[in-house]
Amino acid sequence: MSRFWSKIVHDLDPYVPGEQPRIEGLIKLNTNENPYPPSPKALEAIRRATDEPLRLYPDPVSAELRETIAASFGLEAGNIFVGNGSDEVLAHAFMGLLKQDGPLLFPDITYSFYPVYCGLYGIEAKKIPLADDMSVDIDAYRGPAGAIILPNPNAPTGIALPLADIRKLAEADRDRLLVVDEAYVDFGGESAAALVPDFDNILVIRTFSKSYSLAGSRVGFAIGQRPLIEALERVKDSFNSYPLDRLAQAAATAAWKDRDWFEATRSRIMMSRNRLAGDLTELGFEVLPSAANFVFARHAGHEGASLAAALRAEAILVRHFNKPRISDYLRITVGTEAECSRLVEVLRKIL
Ligand code: PMP
Repeated sequence: MSRFWSKIVHDLDPYVPGEQPRIEGLIKLNTNENPYPPSPKALEAIRRATDEPLRLYPDPVSAELRETIAASFGLEAGNIFVGNGSDEVLAHAFMGLLKQDGPLLFPDITYSFYPVYCGLYGIEAKKIPLADDMSVDIDAYRGPAGAIILPNPNAPTGIALPLADIRKLAEADRDRLLVVDEAYVDFGGESAAALVPDFDNILVIRTFSKSYSLAGSRVGFAIGQRPLIEALERVKDSFNSYPLDRLAQAAATAAWKDRDWFEATRSRIMMSRNRLAGDLTELGFEVLPSAANFVFARHAGHEGASLAAALRAEAILVRHFNKPRISDYLRITVGTEAECSRLVEVLRKIL
């Protein structure tokens, strides 16, 4: 350890992302990527953008992308903030919006990025235990708080809260900011974007990484009333963060417009998820009800860590979290039909 480390650095509990090994020959079901290639229209847009325009700087404010997204919600570009992945959008929210008077509330089992950013920005975190069935218990979010952040569906459980519950949380205290991280909402959740016109205390964060299959491109965005979006813009400008590059802007805009690809792909993934959940249940797993592109499951007769290791030995990567209460579970991304079948076949051998 360096003697120059500050207390903040010393106390940081760094975010440990899922493994991203070279993937030849591996079935990669560990970081919730989409198993299918992006929309051909997005690929074509990237090709077009690699010609002459790559010589030029990108649009610093991603105007076309923001207008395109906004239009489908009946909103304006000023209601949309874009960033390099929703992780960057989240980072700006933590920097500029989530340090309020009072603690930031989030589930004790949730996206591991949140406590890391609380550590970095000196935000007091209050972790609210999940209910016995592993769902988010909105009644436990009463009491004084500076703000709340929740993924919906939650990660890594995959369990979604109904929109009515999100509305209740926002209504409970209109002076308390509620950030809803909807990374997985397109696989069966209900989006809080519909609440944005009525609530100035809701910020919805979305990504192109999962349902648009553009994880490698890094595009995320936030939807909110103008003052919240302006706050994020201010943070971004002060932080000197980079605009989305030309290829990312072109790809995301074309992907968003290709509704046929989007609908077909997400229904295919949801169908595979339901089949996978059924197959795992047959194999003796307890599978939480998922509204995401992954399932969270445990087997009474086998430890999570040893199952993950056995799968790895068969070239299948899944995610195991060595954390209290969930250490028996595996988080398994929904792959192609063939990948899911292979997983089930290997598990049948292992169990
Ligand atoms: N939120 C949640 C809940 C996630 O699981 C992820 C993906 N790991 C993200 C946000 C970030 O996704 P991205 O930065 O690729 O948009």
